[in-house]
Formats: sequence, C-alpha cells, structure tokens
Amino acid sequence: MNASLQQIDIRSHLKDPSLFREDAFINGKWVKAKAGTTFSVNNPATGDIIANVANLNGADAELAITVAEQALIGWRSKTAKDRAIVMRKWFDLIIANTEDLAILMTLEQGKPLVESRGEVAYGASFVEWFAEESKRVTGAILESTWGDKRMLVLKQAIGVCVAITPWNFPIAMITRKIAPAIAAGCTMVIKPAEQTPLCALALAELAQRAGMPAGVVNIIPSDADQSIAIGKVVCASPTIRHLSFTGSTEVGRILMAQCAPSVKKVALELGGHAPFIVFEDADIDAAVAGAIASKYRNSGQTCVCANRFYVHQKVQAIFVEKFAKATQAIKVGNGMTEGVSQGPLIDDAAFAKVEKHVADAISKGATLVTGGKANASGLNFYEPTILSNVTSDMLITYEETFGPVAPIIPFDNDEAVVKLANNSQYGLASYFYSRDIGRVWKVAEALEYGMVGVNTGIMSNEVAPFGGVKQSGLGREGSIWGMDEYLEMKYVCVGL
Ligand code: NAP
Repeated sequence: MNASLQQIDIRSHLKDPSLFREDAFINGKWVKAKAGTTFSVNNPATGDIIANVANLNGADAELAITVAEQALIGWRSKTAKDRAIVMRKWFDLIIANTEDLAILMTLEQGKPLVESRGEVAYGASFVEWFAEESKRVTGAILESTWGDKRMLVLKQAIGVCVAITPWNFPIAMITRKIAPAIAAGCTMVIKPAEQTPLCALALAELAQRAGMPAGVVNIIPSDADQSIAIGKVVCASPTIRHLSFTGSTEVGRILMAQCAPSVKKVALELGGHAPFIVFEDADIDAAVAGAIASKYRNSGQTCVCANRFYVHQKVQAIFVEKFAKATQAIKVGNGMTEGVSQGPLIDDAAFAKVEKHVADAISKGATLVTGGKANASGLNFYEPTILSNVTSDMLITYEETFGPVAPIIPFDNDEAVVKLANNSQYGLASYFYSRDIGRVWKVAEALEYGMVGVNTGIMSNEVAPFGGVKQSGLGREGSIWGMDEYLEMKYVCVGL
C-alpha cells in the first residue's frame, strides 16, 4: 500500500454493512483468491483505499467455470416461472437496498449520489424486465413440406456464459448481461472491472439472499494484470459458450480474436463517439438541456456521451451562449456531497487523456469557451469544458474523450453534417434536434448508428435495444431481443 494513502472503513457508511464484500463469490460461497492475493480499490474522489479485494487468477476462473457448468443442469431444468420468481426477489432486494448500493457506487466510481441512485434503478430494471421476459420465450411449429414429418423449433439456453464489464456503470453493465442470461436458463461467470468490484459483489450477496442457487452467478474480481490472464482462460474454455463484453473497442478486438479458435458466440458493447447535431429549426433550450444531460453525465464517461457537437451556423451563437451558462452552473465535487452534479474522472490516465484532447484542440486553433482546466475539488476533477471553432483534424473529433469536454463544430447544410456525423469508426449513439418532421425522418434514417436520440439527450432503458454498429460492437442488450443472445434455436424434425 502507498504509505500516503489512507485506508477507510466504508462499512460505517452503509445501513447494511454486510453488503460490503472483499472476497470473490464462487459456487454460492465467499472465497479468497487461490494465491491469497488482493488488490486495492480506491475512491477516485480522494485516492483513499476503500477495499482490498480478492485478486483472482486463471486457475480461479477455471474453478468458477466448472461450478457454473455443474449449476447449469439444475438451473436450466427449472421452469421459466421458477427462475422468474428468484429474479423478482432479487430485483426487490436491489431496490430495497438502493441507498447502500448507491453509496458503494459513488465511493468506488465517483459519480454523484443522485446518478448512482439512478443507476441502481436502471440496473434493477433489467432484472425485472428479463424475469418477465423469461416466461415469453417461444419456439415455433413450422408448416411442414412433408406429409409424414412435423417440424418444430425449440429455443434453449446456450449454456455457461462469461461477462466482462467496465467501471463506468458498475451495476447496470452487469445486470444487463446477467439478467437475460439467467432468465434464459444459463449460468454465468462475471469479471467486473478492477476499479469497481464492490457493486458486483454486493449484487451477488443480494442474489444469494433472493435464493439464487449456488453456481448460477459467480463473481471473479481481479486487477488489470490478472484480467488479461482470466480473459485468455475464459475465451479458450470449451465450456463457455458465450462471451459478453462491454468495454473499449481495443479490448473487444482482443477478446473476439481470442474467442475465434473455439468459435465462441460473442456480444460486444464497445466504444462510441456520438455526434450531437443542432439544426437551425431546433428548440434551443431543449437542445441545451439535452446537451448537458448527454455530455456531462458521469463526468462524460459514458459510451453514449455526445463527443462532437455540430451546430448550424445560424444558431451557433445563441446555442453556445446558453450551453456555456448551463455548463458553468454544474456543481463539481465529491459525489458523496448532496447537490454535486459532477464527480471526478476515474483515474490519472483518464484525466491525462482529457487534458491531451483539450491541449491538442487549442494548439490547432480551437477557442476555449469555458473550463479547460483541473477543478480544485481534488484529484482528477476536471472543469466542464466547451471548445468552439473545432475542426476535424483535432483528436477530440475522432478519439473517444471519456471526459467532460464539448467540442462545437459549425455546419451549414444537412447532407454535409450527416456525412461528418457518419465519418467515424464508431456507430453507437447519436443525437439531433430538429422540429421539421421531414428532416427528422431523413436524418434518423441516414445516421449510421445503433441508437438515435431525436430531441432528447437520454434514451436508454430496459425496453429499448441497446447496442452499436461498425466498431461499436455486435448484438443488442435489453428489450424483447436481449435474450436472443443467450438462446440457441434447435430445429426438431419428427417423422410420423
Ligand atoms: P476496458 O479497458 O476495455 O475494460 C473493460 C473490461 O475489460 C474491464 O473489466 C477490464 O478489466 C477488462 N479487460 C481489459 N483488458 C482485458 C483483456 N485483455 N482480457 C480480458 N479482460 C480485459 O474499458 P473500460 O476503460 O473499463 O471502459 C471504458 C470503455 O467501455 C469505453 O470505450 C466505453 O465506450 C466502453 N463502454 C461501452 C458501453 C456500451 O454499452 N457500448 C458501455 C459502457 C462502456 P480491468 O478493469 O481489470 O483491466
């Protein structure tokens, strides 16, 4: 441990201190790493060490895969209704413990408490939704082309699955994967991000209280070095039938390649670089509200954050003026303080990337409208920032910033702006503001993105399909289609 860092006991913040877990969760038991090692988890707002969590390795991952395989037999043979009853109890427990889960999240991830509470509700909604959806899995009876044969399609659980998740949504990125998997009858091994294992472990504690059988949900925390080793083990394992990953495009490519030899099914929720277009007929106040929500939520550390603002020349001045005023009203500080609406960035590397993007833009001629520097609240806090006169040679227009910086690029015609918006390797979220119904249809259809927000800066919920095109990934999460990832179709042909 770095001697300058304080070790804080965060149990005192919780109504139910038993939600704070530092061991891994395998086969319904709290276990240490086989090697006996731990890694520290820091509060990004203060640098304090808040936990020393079991640091699992490849051998631990093998064990988790084995118990998940053993648990599969019992879990998939339950009726969907019985699985739904356990999931519904789990949902109720997550909601009942919202405040403690939100506190754990703010302490390990940094986002303001109000956002953490929102994420608990959002994360829980996938458990509720897929508990309901589990009862609606339907196969088919096909019209046979043979008089003496009957043709059916069954939908069955794919088997043992693995999930690897990022730090920016420590609960929702996990429930968006576990919920459809276990609803379908699969079992799962989950490796949370190094920075945010505590929420994942608290979810496991609540799953156990809900009556989840041992081995159905297994959480294997690790540090970044062991993640690489665990990644190799799970990708190579013939027992694992499906890998679901949320994280950077770079790591997604590695995992996809590692899954190729075993021809494993993969679902990838990767990086984004969302355009946000303000047309000349937009409701400017609504566009400003949407820009604030989509840009600065989670300090700009979401895959669906607006990363490029294209604003029509005719409304640029008024939009920038109002956007700057709203940006300056954002209260930056420790997320545990009520009233704070922007917390720190996750770590030094995230802070350095934001500084680099701003410096690069300014060196190439961008104008700093507001922000552009560290905030005095402590480690890794960055001022909400707006840059104008941004041009497409600046890093910020094509690399994911993952920070609270809004670059403004003027435009003057629809075709040109759609072309600019689509000029990205990414294709996750996009946004635009217009009141012209013809333009709304044309632009929504022309944007090469998995999700389009029209006159809104927030669009994700459990009912809608979440996911991207191009190098933003493969597959969709949530919605009536989210369980398809975890179900195989089996064709049965019956001779009479
Ligand atoms: P990351 O560096 O790709 O890490 C994501 C997860 O992968 C972490 O659990 C990490 O473990 C693990 N990992 C890293 N290298 C690995 C390897 N070689 N083998 C196995 N596991 C490995 O991404 P991040 O920084 O946590 O998250 C930010 C990124 O996620 C952004 O690009 C963002 O756009 C994307 N994201 C996408 C969505 C979406 O739905 N499309 C949602 C949220 C975030 P360690 O933490 O232990 O290194």
